[in-house]
Amino acid sequence: MDPASPQVVVVGSCMTDLVSITPRLPRAGETIHGSKFFIGFGGKGANQCIQASRLGACTAMVCKVGDDSFGNNYIENFRKNDVCTDFVFQTGAAATGAASIIVNAEVRTIFNPAPAVADLDPAFYTHSDVFCCNESEAEILTGVQVKSPSDAGAAGSELLARGCQLVLVTLGGEGCVIVSKEDPKPKHIATHKVKAVDTTGAGDSFIGALAFFLAHYPQLSMEEMVKRSNHIASVSVQAAGTQTSYPHRKDLPQDIF
Ligand code: ADP
Repeated sequence: MDPASPQVVVVGSCMTDLVSITPRLPRAGETIHGSKFFIGFGGKGANQCIQASRLGACTAMVCKVGDDSFGNNYIENFRKNDVCTDFVFQTGAAATGAASIIVNAEVRTIFNPAPAVADLDPAFYTHSDVFCCNESEAEILTGVQVKSPSDAGAAGSELLARGCQLVLVTLGGEGCVIVSKEDPKPKHIATHKVKAVDTTGAGDSFIGALAFFLAHYPQLSMEEMVKRSNHIASVSVQAAGTQTSYPHRKDLPQDIF
């Protein structure tokens, strides 16, 4: 890594996805035929890191993988995506970790409370600059049912009351709502209307893109960063898969940068 350039450092999970395509879910104990199987790279932290890297951010991943072929392949995947692996460790013990915490020590910090728990340690509300959750996470955390941008505003306001500086609630095809201490009136940022094929990992694409803009274009307003991140995530939902659907910088309209 070039220590002089802005950096995105992601601390989070790194999972190998074992994906089976089946006509329906099997019942408990039942064996059914599937039509397709593939292995992919996933994990919320790694997804976000790879999206930021593909946009051109200087990135590093902090995680632990097993001392096995999946772990070796994942390290190779990070290298192929220009992610620094100096802090990707391997262990013979079982790997754990489901929630992802994104730390950008030099710019600003984003916290993504996924998977959400109702009794989240209150320190998480106050210790990050951007608290970014999706509608179901917002609902679990606040108890406010989130079905619309105005519901998301209400949930965001509750999260502000708990000590967050700035809250983003993502809403799938509806885009995102921003509320902040500076500007507590909820603002809805719509996204592009697209034909969604597979929305898996859209939230991670959004957060990775946001980390990229925070690191590389800190002069932009949060609203502008969210607009551009919405755009990038809306591209990701138009193709199948998680990381396979994440766009590279060269494939995006250049006026986004
Ligand atoms: P998660 O993947 O965490 O559930 P969301 O579904 O809220 O997150 O999606 C995150 C972002 O991805 C949205 O804010 C939006 O920018 C984009 N997105 C998701 N689904 C769609 C869609 N159907 N059409 C356009 N953009 C989408």
